Amino acid sequence: MSPATTQPNCIFCKIVRGEIPAQKLYEDAEVLAFPDIRPQAPVHLLIIPKVHVANLYDATAAHQAALGKMLAVAGRLAREAGADDGFRVIINNGRVGHQEVYHVHMHVLGGPEPLGPMLQRKR
Ligand code: AMP
Ligand code: ZN
Repeated sequence: MSPATTQPNCIFCKIVRGEIPAQKLYEDAEVLAFPDIRPQAPVHLLIIPKVHVANLYDATAAHQAALGKMLAVAGRLAREAGADDGFRVIINNGRVGHQEVYHVHMHVLGGPEPLGPMLQRKR
């Protein structure tokens, strides 16, 4: 991985570089998947591109293969994690999207019981 494609202080780049431990559920040249450290559903894993991209505002055609791969492996990883009767993917972007970690990541969330409503209206 060339230095230009990772950020020294990014927590998910550190996972890609092996500097922070994570249970690798899937890895190939483009993407990495690992469990979310604070699961919000019985199945909750994250799929990230190996290259650093802060969020989808910064995504370009250069990231197309990695972003496509994230979707392409989601169903298989959801099923392998036990979510074989449906799941949800979420990508939070920026302040309004409540993004906490500024390295694109796709949440994969699943049951066994149905998840709550997709969005809760703010009071
Ligand atoms: P968000 O940026 O709001 O879409 O979510 C960031 C997610 O990253 C949260 O669900 C965190 O629990 C998760 N997270 C933060 N640090 C780690 C880590 N070291 N390993 C796994 N998941 C993490
Ligand atoms: Zn990063």
